[in-house]
Amino acid sequence: MNHNLLEQWDKEYVWHPFTQMKTYRESKPLIIERGEGSYLIDVEGNRYLDGYASLWVNVHGHNEPELNGALIAQVNKIAHSTLLGSANVPSILLAKKLAEITPGHLSKVFYSDTGSAAVEIALKVAYQYWQNIDPDKYRHKNKFVSLDEAYHGDTVGAVSVGGMDLYHRIFKPLLFERISVPSPYAYHMTEYFDTEAVKNHCLNELEKLLQQQSAQIAGLIIEPLVQGAAGIITHPDGFLKEVEILCRQYDVLLICDEVAVGFGRTGTMFACEQEDVVPDIMCMGKGITGGYMPLAATIMNDQIFQSFLGEREEHKTFYHGHTYTGNQLACALALKNIELMEERGLIHDIQKKARQLTKKLQALYDFPIVGDVRQRGLMIGVEIVKDRQTKETFPLQENIVSEIIIKAREHGLIIRELGPVITMMPILAMSEAELTAMVDTVYRSIQEVVLEKGLIQAAN
Ligand SMILES: *Cc1c(COP(=O)(O)O)cnc(C)c1O
Repeated sequence: MNHNLLEQWDKEYVWHPFTQMKTYRESKPLIIERGEGSYLIDVEGNRYLDGYASLWVNVHGHNEPELNGALIAQVNKIAHSTLLGSANVPSILLAKKLAEITPGHLSKVFYSDTGSAAVEIALKVAYQYWQNIDPDKYRHKNKFVSLDEAYHGDTVGAVSVGGMDLYHRIFKPLLFERISVPSPYAYHMTEYFDTEAVKNHCLNELEKLLQQQSAQIAGLIIEPLVQGAAGIITHPDGFLKEVEILCRQYDVLLICDEVAVGFGRTGTMFACEQEDVVPDIMCMGKGITGGYMPLAATIMNDQIFQSFLGEREEHKTFYHGHTYTGNQLACALALKNIELMEERGLIHDIQKKARQLTKKLQALYDFPIVGDVRQRGLMIGVEIVKDRQTKETFPLQENIVSEIIIKAREHGLIIRELGPVITMMPILAMSEAELTAMVDTVYRSIQEVVLEKGLIQAAN
């Protein structure tokens, strides 16, 4: 296929997500043709280290023989039949597996195909749960709490519980009401003495809110340990546990959105395990199929499930379902992905590699424009600032962060920015040498931009 034609047609026909298409059409698009382990290969044959795991999804690498094999074996049987009124083999086996690997008594799996849908399902289930158990007593339990800067997806319900002004402001008139609580973004909360004080402030605010309004609150939704899309905001230790305790105390369902952090990303299979937290409802997506196919799941405890049981005319049924729910190809891949994670001891490996990365990442502080380096497992954010003292970021027009990203691409590394934050979300199976190369390339890219823009003087 002719590259120039592909480029022309891409610009003519494809509308890319989260992308200012005017700028995009003025640039040279990266058109990926193949993948090999930790590398993406474009139509011109250039190789790039996949430092964003193809948007936080890839686990074992691209073109993984065992995953390919699982896909081929399944497609030779059947690609898709429906879960409406019938069942299928991989969706049964995967649901059982998910119940086994998730914490506590989470045991009822509702499938969908994107993280956003998994969140919609969680919200609707949480609301209906209260209506099913006592519609009079819980008549007013119809609101949700979420954190400032929260990100739970892009469909209207998921945006309603979102707290990212940049993405969500324009849609405000379409949304249902959200009750927001402060997020413990310690780096920017300099009015508090330390991280512990930040944590206590946020928890106090949450408790005040629950004291006053819990009768109106169906659930609280949170990204456990790390708020990803907001710029890898890592929460203080113990924050999640305290949130769980408050939810129990005030009779509010706890929904953990593990779409980004689940499947090993933070060093445990699920992030909430690190604080011994068992949510009532958990959302999964992204890494679930190892980065092969769109699949998501919402897993509930039995108590919630039971509330939906009744005679048909009681209308306790959950009236929700997506056409491709429980798709066989996706479920077969997810099952294989989890089996490979177990067989290969990937979680243990991630922890080891993460510790080594922590040391490597310190070098980035050589540059005065590096304000904060945040890491949980293989989830890394480097916040770029104009001034380390004031923590002021560069104005959008100055494009400093974008230029670093572009430099990295020129040096064969693909990463992405989230506002002022450079993010590294490597493929989980990446080797130590590749991870080192990733950080070295980021170092070099920052260095070149700093020199070209004369930022050293400006920052000193
Ligand atoms: C990516 C993400 C979602 C949305 O998933 P999609 O598959 O993009 O719809 C929801 N929650 C979190 C925490 C995410 O990172």
